[in-house]
Amino acid sequence: MAYVALYRAYRPQKFCDVVGQQHIIKTLQNAIKLNKVAHAYLFCGPRGTGKTTLAKIMAKALNCEHGPAIEPCDTCSICQGIQKGTVADVVEIDAASNNGADDIRALRDSVKYMPSIGKYKVYIIDEVHMLSNAAFNALLKTLEEPPKHVIFILATTEPYKLPSTILSRCQRFDFESLSIENILKRLKIVAAEEGIRLTDEALNQIASSAEGGMRDALSLFDQTISFSIHDEITLEDVLAVSGNVSYKELLQVASACLDGDGTKALKLTDQILKQGKEVPRIINDTILFLRDILLFKNNAILDDRLEFHNQDFIDFSKRIATTIIYEWLNHLNETNNTMRFSNQKRAYLELAILKMSDSKMNEEANLLERIEQLEHTIHMLSMTKANPVKSNPMDIALPSKEELLQIQKEPVMAEPIPEPAKITDNEVQIEEIEEILNSASKSRKARLQAIWNQIASEYSGVFIAQILVAGEIVAVNENKFIVVLNDLGFCNRLMRYENYQKIIEIFDNFNANITDYICLPKAIWNKIRTDYRAKYSQENPKVKLEKIKIGVLKRKEPEHIEAVDETLEKLKELIDNEKIEIMED
Ligand SMILES: [Zn+2]
Repeated sequence: MAYVALYRAYRPQKFCDVVGQQHIIKTLQNAIKLNKVAHAYLFCGPRGTGKTTLAKIMAKALNCEHGPAIEPCDTCSICQGIQKGTVADVVEIDAASNNGADDIRALRDSVKYMPSIGKYKVYIIDEVHMLSNAAFNALLKTLEEPPKHVIFILATTEPYKLPSTILSRCQRFDFESLSIENILKRLKIVAAEEGIRLTDEALNQIASSAEGGMRDALSLFDQTISFSIHDEITLEDVLAVSGNVSYKELLQVASACLDGDGTKALKLTDQILKQGKEVPRIINDTILFLRDILLFKNNAILDDRLEFHNQDFIDFSKRIATTIIYEWLNHLNETNNTMRFSNQKRAYLELAILKMSDSKMNEEANLLERIEQLEHTIHMLSMTKANPVKSNPMDIALPSKEELLQIQKEPVMAEPIPEPAKITDNEVQIEEIEEILNSASKSRKARLQAIWNQIASEYSGVFIAQILVAGEIVAVNENKFIVVLNDLGFCNRLMRYENYQKIIEIFDNFNANITDYICLPKAIWNKIRTDYRAKYSQENPKVKLEKIKIGVLKRKEPEHIEAVDETLEKLKELIDNEKIEIMED
């Protein structure tokens, strides 16, 4: 016997078998019951949500020997014939392949004739948005004056592509994506009937990978069955077939990012890439994962899935601040948009991971969230304290967010008047910046700008280079330059000795004669620039800048590097034992 795909074998044959879309079914059944069936229906919605399935059941219900009935008997010769596609009164047209005006004109000609064995002629036009303009016009003529015995059911995933003249003549139903619970319910039935065993994790993964489409769920199930060599289908089997990244792995990467451990996060990402997962899929899965965390944090989870009972998932949700999740989602969406036109997708992914690992941002967000909680607690306290004496809780002055931030930031023993932060020896000094600005050359800047653009395209796979060229060169002298970046975290990263070496090497490849550079965060640069412009004049071209705190760490040389090398060696040893390769970029 020929193999029948699961989604065909388990296609619902009656209204009562259909999972989800209950409001649509109710409306259709009512129309049949009250003899108020429309001449044209438009079924819109995502793929695999039951549009053509319901169209066929509707055709059966109308034409059944015992009908029109709110439920087809599914046993009479007409019901059986419709199911097999042998009843001439029910015509299924795939507009993707029959999209010409001739096809529709042929249809228009056949509309005139009465149904042969049933009571209605039902035309089901799938993917109707694929019709050509001429075909739409031909169809419109029929829809304008439909014979009484004719019913059109148009199905589409993209209703906005339909002409308004068509839309206005149809009764429209919007099909919803199926909930994971609904898909799970159906999958369990199919698994039991087919005698297939799978773990709960595997079942859950199939349901969530399908993204609301039953057909996709059953197709994935089918593929996994042929792929799996075990008695029981496991989560790994499903992930291998679907190409999705497991929650466990996403959780590990996200935890490393939250800890500010970019190296670990990149290494974990590398492992995922080595399994053959594609960059867009990883990014998409991460976005969905973060969305789930957001929903979970807000008690807005609609589906009850295994993951939401996983202690690691729950712990992580508590640990991450909502603002960080939004920040990360921004980075990921941006990455999604920019990498579309690049074949260096991996570099973009790595850059996003590094941005997400920016610990300073994470700390600040956490602090803000803690303050918000604190504010809430104080407010609640003031309410309970205030109520018994019936005083107005609004009379109690709460400290503002800024005041609280100040309290949190300052050590307990802080002096009453906050002093400006001290300039320390281990950070870049204003004199170094002064020197470059006072000897800057326009021609050198132009030359470096040209090289800059070359680096952007030729080193698109080297993330350190990408961080650099994302910045703006503001001044160049004989052999040094100043680059301005959006934030301090990236400045400090680029100033590190190992990265400095890499960057100088890149410039050497272009014979750029660069021996050093300084990275400045935008806010600091804006202050310096204002000061410089105010003081500069042609008579006085050498400017003495005001001493301010730069905050960018000075480069630490060799002894620090040896320590890092040592740690790296140890790490490599550990990793070698685990048979994992260390990533080189
Ligand atoms: Zn029947």
